[in-house]
Amino acid sequence: MHMKQFYCFACIIIFTLSCSGGNIINTASADKLIPLVSFVFDDGYETDYTVAKDIFSLQGEVACTAVVTNWLNTENYLSVSQLLELQKDGWEILSHTESHPDLKTLSESQIESELSNSKSILENQGLTVKNLVYPFNKTNAIVKKIAAKYYRSGREGDSMLNSYVLDRYELKSYSLTHDLSKIKSYVDNAYSEKKWLILFHHHIYAKIKISDQKGNFILGEKLFFQPSGAKGKYTASGFVFPGTAIYFAPLSGIPQTNDTITGQTSGATGKLGRVIYNEKEDIKYLIEYIHTNYPEMKIVTIDKGLDLMEIP
Ligand SMILES: [Zn+2]
Repeated sequence: MHMKQFYCFACIIIFTLSCSGGNIINTASADKLIPLVSFVFDDGYETDYTVAKDIFSLQGEVACTAVVTNWLNTENYLSVSQLLELQKDGWEILSHTESHPDLKTLSESQIESELSNSKSILENQGLTVKNLVYPFNKTNAIVKKIAAKYYRSGREGDSMLNSYVLDRYELKSYSLTHDLSKIKSYVDNAYSEKKWLILFHHHIYAKIKISDQKGNFILGEKLFFQPSGAKGKYTASGFVFPGTAIYFAPLSGIPQTNDTITGQTSGATGKLGRVIYNEKEDIKYLIEYIHTNYPEMKIVTIDKGLDLMEIP
């Protein structure tokens, strides 16, 4: 490298660091980094416990749940005792604020209370909370400054990988979509570039096409699939071209084409025409994909990821 090029490069680095407000940390050298993947389930849905917990523990892995404290212990959301069990399994509990507002629209004192209360409410229940997920993935300089008072990091979206030069109050993430070939390409890139892939998701659903439906399923009731023996929890009905679809949390087993579906309370029935997606199976598949193809890649919590990136 010529001296002139060197100075330009050095200036860019210094400029970048000085613009960061001190959040960009670059202590690790790129060549010793390990490629990382984190799975974060936003909003604290009960499927983190009823569906995801087993997927990860059966494969010896961990994930993170980002909790909105006002939604805890309400219908379809996690309870504190479920959170404690997830934590015992090695999951990381993240704050996702108290009421899930767009923090950018709040006054400084409102931001302050959203960020400090959510952390103390969880910690008073015996949970360890070090990191934050911004609602709607939205943040700005003021939000980041307040986040830094209470948290080690903050996560937003932006569909990017995290490299070893990063702003820990602007951790980047991708949405875990149904396009598995896309998600696999993010994993491939994180591996080859030795970067950190953070995937975020919400409620874990399966969506199926249903035919010959008799009666109406009741929200929250158990669904039984025969002969596969699978079980689910009914969430909603919808449309699929041509016909009707239903959504449910896939609790156990794998529903199969031609299964007869029966609602436990309603007695409604139907026939499974086609599985449109099953997010539980997708997540299982992704973990297996990582284990098989990239055994040295690590699946980590956010806090562990920060450690391995040598972020203070
Ligand atoms: Zn959210």
